[in-house]
Amino acid sequence: MAGNPRIGILSLQGDVREHEHVLQGLGADTLRVRRPAELVEVDALVIPGGESTVIDKLSRSFGLQEPIRQAIRDGMPMLGTCAGLIMLADALTDAAEGQQTFGGLDVRVQRNAFGRQTESFEVALIVPALGAQPVRAAFIRGPVITAVGPGASTLAALPDGRVVAVEQGPLIGISFHPEITGETRFHERLLDSVTSR
Ligand code: GLN
Repeated sequence: MAGNPRIGILSLQGDVREHEHVLQGLGADTLRVRRPAELVEVDALVIPGGESTVIDKLSRSFGLQEPIRQAIRDGMPMLGTCAGLIMLADALTDAAEGQQTFGGLDVRVQRNAFGRQTESFEVALIVPALGAQPVRAAFIRGPVITAVGPGASTLAALPDGRVVAVEQGPLIGISFHPEITGETRFHERLLDSVTSR
């Protein structure tokens, strides 16, 4: 690959700027993706947190749902945080009426599993694949992963056993927001899967 990896950030809704900041700090070039022509320009895609029902609807009206599903089938590395995890899940609990996902992760995800916005919290989370130093994980109306199918593997669980991070080949899905606590290792892992592709 010539030059820096070019990482797209799905920019229909959600915390796009925080991801740009982390990725640029790691030396990647970033591109905001709102249309299919932009998706073909990138080596990987971040699906940010926000509101999955809105990201779903806008991705369909911008003609991005099928191109993103095809990119997943083609093995494009992707990182989904919070609503982004919901978008990458094959199955949802507590989906809104008619809500669709891109799929790709062989998991079932329960939306809003931690209650309301006011019940947001931060924890130090051990993610063995990222080393001994715990991750500072901010949960903001996050989902939990209630079932992990044979295709996916668990990256992290809370002390009570609830799974909050999974991986399946080049796809990473996490319930929380590493981009707002200065945590860069998930984005580094995404960049690694671009360079090893
Ligand atoms: N509760 C939101 C949803 O269902 C996700 C929240 C977030 O991304 N911080 O999409």
